[in-house]
Amino acid sequence: MVVIDGKKIASGIQEDTKKEIEELKAKYHQSPCLATVVTGADDPTKVYVKKRGKMCEEIGIISKMHSLPEDTKEKDVLELIGKLNNDEKIHGIIVQLPLPKHIDKRKISEAVSPEKDVDCLNPLNIGRLASGDETFAPCTPKAVITILGKSGIEIRGKEVVIVGRSRIVGRPLALMLINRDATVTVCHTKTKNLEGHTKNADILIAAAGSPNLIKENMVKENAVVVDVGINVVNNKIVGDVDFENVKNKASFITPVPGGVGPVTVAMLMKSTVEAFKQQVVRE
Ligand code: NAD
Repeated sequence: MVVIDGKKIASGIQEDTKKEIEELKAKYHQSPCLATVVTGADDPTKVYVKKRGKMCEEIGIISKMHSLPEDTKEKDVLELIGKLNNDEKIHGIIVQLPLPKHIDKRKISEAVSPEKDVDCLNPLNIGRLASGDETFAPCTPKAVITILGKSGIEIRGKEVVIVGRSRIVGRPLALMLINRDATVTVCHTKTKNLEGHTKNADILIAAAGSPNLIKENMVKENAVVVDVGINVVNNKIVGDVDFENVKNKASFITPVPGGVGPVTVAMLMKSTVEAFKQQVVRE
């Protein structure tokens, strides 16, 4: 059994991205810039977003943070996004989810310019993803695909079961796996007999946000298990998988923390550089 080291994978990607940014900066005298819009988030989210911004700065991406209070009006968030869309110095925009209830997520998602949409919020980009164009695939699904690739795990022809169908993780990940010739099953809260599905998985991906949901008896011998979940239990961060027991059965498994999370951040940096190249490098 191999415990996949997400931090190591992430630091390799960050090193490569840093080098690429240095080369781009030397040639175009500009740095990629990522704007983050946070509206009324809880304290752990604010800490996470700040840390992520600092990590971007460390590899040469300018990070602009826009922290808005919980009661910000929808029209003001839209106005800010409009300004960021029109600002030539901003190359990537990420709107931190979830948004407060009084703000229409659909309107906000549609407002982010598709060229700057580094986490695939805009429906145009998810449509592109469905048609096989992954230019602006969302960062967490991208991280899962990268982890599988870097670990030498074949996707083609495999039975892949995803637990979770959210707009930002399960659903786009299913599309990306189909793009790579996997046979994909997507489970969710209304799935009957979850275990009946998960037991068939060569690759099992848990993205439900439910601690200890995936137990040993739900996993096939030698399956690859990727845990996307982030849950806080007794002040500790845990995933969706009962790691200690499932690891004995899996051939590969990602831990939480230290698995998908760090690679997701590395993917955000990579996507920001891709967006920069599309906007600045016109040769
Ligand atoms: P979400 O709440 O939007 O969606 C959860 C999905 O899981 C839903 O489709 C729901 O139907 C399904 N689900 C929930 N409980 C289930 C159960 N008991 N059985 C079957 N299906 C169930 O969440 P999300 O935004 O997709 O995030 C999922 C998890 O991944 C969360 O823990 C989140 O914190 C984490 N996450 C991690 C990263 C990362 O970088 N590692 C990034 C994004 C989200």
